Amino acid sequence: MSTALVTGSRGQDGTYLAAHLGRLGYRTVGIDRDGPVDLRDREAVRTLLGKVQPREVYHLAAHHHSSQDSVGDDVDLFRRSHDIHALATVNLLEGISRSCPAARLFFAGSCQLFGTPSAAVQDESTPMQPDGIYGITKLAGVNLCRYYRRQRGVYAAVGLLFNHESPLRGPNFVSKKIAAGVAAIHQGRQAGLVLGDLDAEIDWGFAGDYVAAMHEVLQLPEPEDFVISTGERHSVRDFVAQAFSLVGLEWQRYVTVDPSMLRARPHATLHGNPAKLTRMTGWRPATTFPDLIRLMVNAELEKHAHG
Ligand code: NDP
Repeated sequence: MSTALVTGSRGQDGTYLAAHLGRLGYRTVGIDRDGPVDLRDREAVRTLLGKVQPREVYHLAAHHHSSQDSVGDDVDLFRRSHDIHALATVNLLEGISRSCPAARLFFAGSCQLFGTPSAAVQDESTPMQPDGIYGITKLAGVNLCRYYRRQRGVYAAVGLLFNHESPLRGPNFVSKKIAAGVAAIHQGRQAGLVLGDLDAEIDWGFAGDYVAAMHEVLQLPEPEDFVISTGERHSVRDFVAQAFSLVGLEWQRYVTVDPSMLRARPHATLHGNPAKLTRMTGWRPATTFPDLIRLMVNAELEKHAHG
């Protein structure tokens, strides 16, 4: 039986990935904040890799933050982000090279690496110029993967992941906020929904499809970088309209825009081209945009269906 080591295994993607790998016959060992090792501890990481001898390592753990989180200052945020996106990555890469050199690593990069992109549709050749600390520290992780790939012969693939959602998404993400809001309004638990920029366009996929892509990437003979996206983009307004229509409500009666939630500078439109991934692995997202919305709204309705 093959073993996969998954960091951040209790997060959204970790949960879907463990289920996917389980169906493929893998045993999954998870590393989370509470153990079995601290990813900042190089010796502990190396010892664990030697003991587990994974076939595949998925480094999904991440330090997310949003304007709603109370963080200290940028230095504090950088330290915490760097610990998990860069230091943990180099510990895993070094540990693989010393203790289980045949293991293959998947690093979860992000479309945030593109910052305000120079190309309308981004692919693997789009320059990476992150403009936030999350992206800056993820870029260090990408560069470490490329370095270990080139200099040390470690199999380290990078997924440039665009937004992907599911019922497990955290409450601060707009998809989850809309799905939960629609269900609460329909069930009489909430009167309305306050949102920011309805015109923002997002390349939204389903987490269950994206974890399948991560696994596909690691089956290729050579480690490379891959955009993982749907190649489609939809506005927040589209998401809202479809979500409300599922419960037979007119969204205009319930949604208000809070101007204080609009950014001075609108978000750059991140829209990925997954052609390389499709060409090399045959992967395509199986879940459509309406399917994704239905899945999320139904999960929220179900959560409160019995009181
Ligand atoms: P989640 O936030 O759901 O999962 C990340 C997990 O990492 C959480 O369980 C988190 O735990 C855990 N974690 C954080 N710090 C540590 C640590 N020091 N040691 C061990 N575990 C830790 O994210 P997703 O599943 O959505 O994303 C998976 C990966 O994909 C991430 O790397 C993310 O940056 C990347 N990505 C995701 C996108 C998306 O749209 N979902 C888009 C682009 C990239 P806790 O909850 O306790 O913090």
